[in-house]
Amino acid sequence: DHRLPRIASAIRVIPDFPKPGIMFQDITTLLLDHEAFRDTIDMFVERYRDKRITVVAGIEARGFIFGPPIALAIGCKFVPMRKPKKLPGEVISEEYSLEYGTDIMEMHVGAVQPGDRALVIDDLIATGGTLSAAIRLLERVGAEVVECACVIELPELQGSQRLGGKPLFVLVKAA
Ligand code: 5GP
Repeated sequence: DHRLPRIASAIRVIPDFPKPGIMFQDITTLLLDHEAFRDTIDMFVERYRDKRITVVAGIEARGFIFGPPIALAIGCKFVPMRKPKKLPGEVISEEYSLEYGTDIMEMHVGAVQPGDRALVIDDLIATGGTLSAAIRLLERVGAEVVECACVIELPELQGSQRLGGKPLFVLVKAA
């Protein structure tokens, strides 16, 4: 697609952030280029507009940037998947593994219903642990996860293998 080179080049790579040896993929520079940002959203919308998606689940924090414009454009609800103790209502939680230790993801009870068809959105997939926690939360309440979508994949980490067979769609593969 002719839009992909511009999207890829709008993503800035910052070495040694947040610690030595990490090449951090920084999507804030993509947001500065409104044409590349719009192309990013459009490419997701074109893929999902006719897939009968009923909920876009966005993962804190950068899934909150890409998820809502997609949900509005395809005409469905947006549900935030949050870090622990942020959501005010009753929640369900899933623990997932990080490079060092574990973290917890939470979702409001009642936001997603049995039979909902979910698209899970984040900016980047590394090990896949974060997306897999979101998939578990959605499936626990009876939703069908149609696909996971990210702007960037770090393919060397093989995170797509941790998604329990759910398809993954990415725009940019980073080295
Ligand atoms: P995973 O659980 O797949 O190992 O890590 C993915 C999560 O970590 C995502 O929520 C993503 O936002 C964050 N993340 C890890 N590395 C990077 C990076 O280089 N750039 C950005 N923007 N996010 C990252």
